Amino acid sequence: ESLVHSGADDLERAAEAALRPRSLDEFVGQRVVRDQLSLVLQAARRRGRAPDHVLLSGPPGLGKTTLAMIIAAELGTSLRVTSGPAIQHAGDLAAVLSSLEEGEVLFLDEIHRLARPAEELLYVAMEDFRVDVVVGKGAGASAIPLALPPFTVVGATTRAGLLPAPLRDRFGFTGHLDFYETHELERVLLRSAGLLGAPLDAAAAAEIASRSRGTPRIANRLLRRVRDWAEVRGDGTLSLAAAQSALEVYEVDELGLDRLDRAVLTALCTRFGGGPVGLTTLAVAVGEEPETVETVAEPFLVREGLIGRTPRGRVALPGAWEHLGLTPAAGPGT
Ligand code: ADP
Repeated sequence: ESLVHSGADDLERAAEAALRPRSLDEFVGQRVVRDQLSLVLQAARRRGRAPDHVLLSGPPGLGKTTLAMIIAAELGTSLRVTSGPAIQHAGDLAAVLSSLEEGEVLFLDEIHRLARPAEELLYVAMEDFRVDVVVGKGAGASAIPLALPPFTVVGATTRAGLLPAPLRDRFGFTGHLDFYETHELERVLLRSAGLLGAPLDAAAAAEIASRSRGTPRIANRLLRRVRDWAEVRGDGTLSLAAAQSALEVYEVDELGLDRLDRAVLTALCTRFGGGPVGLTTLAVAVGEEPETVETVAEPFLVREGLIGRTPRGRVALPGAWEHLGLTPAAGPGT
């Protein structure tokens, strides 16, 4: 599995949990969202009421879950966590909603993947604080309205554009998280190194930050791998040389691209002559799900100006050829 893009197993989740900022003040970067959210929370606290529902959008690993936890913590309430794919039936969501206590925060990760019936149930719950519980079956079935105490939904999505407008409209506040600047990631890394008790020097922090694709989750992950290297093959200090050697072992290049990213670029340039090629075809060529390519690899490749999205498909931009050390193919897509 790729180091940069690997999914979170239990160990990984535990390691991440240990590094999570616990308050808005500790949360690095994203100044605009932080300021706005801080106002929403302070106003709610002053009124003694649950704040409006909050939608957080942006690529994976930028802090959506962390912010949801911070929101609950700053409100002095507890956080209930579920996700779009975890909810199979509307009834599952009804069960979660009807067990909420007053003022609780419900974190709904990957909210764009909720099934339609659950989504419809959610609109009503968010708007009217009510769920209709269906009893009985067939012609004899009836819906009994059940009032819910006030609560706050924090929805997270990697693709705000996929949310149906009626659902999007139920969020009083939407915050879009963008990739972090390198200097912000350096702060994330120095903070994390402090928590881990790892001696990270400034040059190493800068090096790791510049290869972390603007993403704190990746920065923290690379930090742990550099620490491994330093402990096993080095003298324990996380120096620039240790960082460079470790990142070479893990095949993370100067841009922070890993194997999946390079596979996407290579397929696009060499198999499809620079494109345009459809997302699904490209995903099949690298052996990944289209959604993974689109939400995990692509946003950063687009941001770095390596690939472009056109109505006819993905195209390699000059930077992609250059990064791979290839000469652009003549013909379409170049
Ligand atoms: P998302 O839910 O957007 O996928 P997470 O909230 O799970 O991302 O964040 C991934 C990891 O990155 C967390 O372990 C957290 O410690 C770290 N992180 C994210 N944003 C920040 C930030 N602004 N400051 C410090 N650490 C952060």
